[in-house]
Amino acid sequence: MPKKIPIRQCVACRAHKEKPQLARVVRTPEGQAVYDGRGKLSGRGAYICRSLDCLEKAVKTRALSRELGVEITPEVYDVLRAQMKEDGV
Ligand SMILES: [Zn+2]
Repeated sequence: MPKKIPIRQCVACRAHKEKPQLARVVRTPEGQAVYDGRGKLSGRGAYICRSLDCLEKAVKTRALSRELGVEITPEVYDVLRAQMKEDGV
């Protein structure tokens, strides 16, 4: 039996995708939002497609902030943008 891959929902387009296809942003216990590149940080997570379209949509709608209940700093968005360009989806 293949290992079951968890499904998560993108905060921007609401599509359900396999977890590795999504970028994860985590609210740390200190109340900061950080990009979780390896998907291993503990804390409340929000997921977004590895796509600049979804990212810009999330910036506009503040979907990540609402999901996590904390402000997303411009630095976090910059990291996500760079990451998504690299992933090139
Ligand atoms: Zn999406």
